[in-house]
Amino acid sequence: MTTTRFAPSPTGYLHIGNLRTALMNYLIARKAGGTFILRIDDTDPERSKEEYVDAIKQDMEWLGLHWDRVERQSDRLDRYAAAADKLREIGRFYEAFETPTELDLKRKKQLNMGKPPVYDRAALALSDEEKAALRAERGQGVWRFKLDHERIEWTDGIIGDVSIDAASVSDPVLIRGDGQVLYTIASVVDDTEMGVTDVVRGSDHVTNTATQIQIIEALGGTAPRFAHHSLLTGPQGEALSKRLGTLALRDLRAGGMEPMAILSLLARLGSSDPIELRTDMESLIEGFDVGRFGTAPTKFDVADLAPLTSRYLQTLSVEAVKADLDAAGVPADQQEAFWSVIRENIDTRADIATWWALCRNGAEPVIEDEDKDFVAEAMTLLPEGPFDDGTWSAWTGAVKAATGRKGRGLFMPLRLALTGQRHGPDMGSLMPLLQVVKARA
Ligand code: GLU
Repeated sequence: MTTTRFAPSPTGYLHIGNLRTALMNYLIARKAGGTFILRIDDTDPERSKEEYVDAIKQDMEWLGLHWDRVERQSDRLDRYAAAADKLREIGRFYEAFETPTELDLKRKKQLNMGKPPVYDRAALALSDEEKAALRAERGQGVWRFKLDHERIEWTDGIIGDVSIDAASVSDPVLIRGDGQVLYTIASVVDDTEMGVTDVVRGSDHVTNTATQIQIIEALGGTAPRFAHHSLLTGPQGEALSKRLGTLALRDLRAGGMEPMAILSLLARLGSSDPIELRTDMESLIEGFDVGRFGTAPTKFDVADLAPLTSRYLQTLSVEAVKADLDAAGVPADQQEAFWSVIRENIDTRADIATWWALCRNGAEPVIEDEDKDFVAEAMTLLPEGPFDDGTWSAWTGAVKAATGRKGRGLFMPLRLALTGQRHGPDMGSLMPLLQVVKARA
């Protein structure tokens, strides 16, 4: 039974980088008919905030990434304490007392000597008396996991065969001096006890994975399958990490981007599959294969979401946008006609209300100086409303006969006078919906 999890820390809003991880785990679980867990990694009481837990859930629901179960690490502290006890019992856990400054100094010395900055395990040599003295002086130490110095190997679902020399990695701190349990041990205990079979996360976690595999095995568990996706960069290949705050899902939502547009892009970006608009989750799930993703950094351009969004909106039936049409005040008997006229000319759902307001109240006309007389004359030829399907061609025919203008010089000034915009729906179809023409003298 496939079980995956998405494990955000509730220390901020979800952004496009988190979404990539969430989506891959979601798609793997759904494709296999398995379980998708939303796991809130909230062991840091200072940085974790309840408002972010709520916001994460809202964003996931908005996108349609529904979870089967929510778990919270803060509810499971006793499980982590039990695992820590077990590691102590089997001699794989030790207390260390170096201050951050001391550790920093050690690292600098090692680097100066051309050595990798790996923790030197000085704490292992402390006698019980020395530890008691340090505890009395500095308080509780941190607890480090004692790695076995051998190669740690796994076949990664994206990277392929990975082999890391454990001796090149510092023994990870799993519990802080103030007793706070850190992500590494909490994650390992959860993955094991929750039966997680597949973990997809960013390639910044590769070294973590190596140490986690040893911890899982030390605790008697079996490591899940791992896949590490590449990190997103900006369109020029620049690091995105600092800008991710501006790529929060709620900002994209406020900007009118559609969930299926975002999901269609993120579920394929960086893979060997083409990016195509998918209008439903099923087809996204069906075509997903984590093995088709590459290891190179993946360029993400937020501008790519806009065309996918408008293409998605074009696929929607009038029933699918009924709530938006109602909210914009479009009467039920005009919804069908109105939607069929505007659907190919909107960028976001917000344009529905904009176009309806234009039909109902008329647009502020835009009239170029050189077209003033022309438009004034045309307006005298415009019949009284209500307009119908034939109004535009009859009117423009009459204007052409009266003024001698034709082509773009005839049509564009009239479009601008009636809608205030250069682009928009076919005027012949729009005319019957136009209730007010402000350009009338
Ligand atoms: N809370 C961790 C993070 O956001 C989870 C990493 C993982 O998937 O194990 O980086």
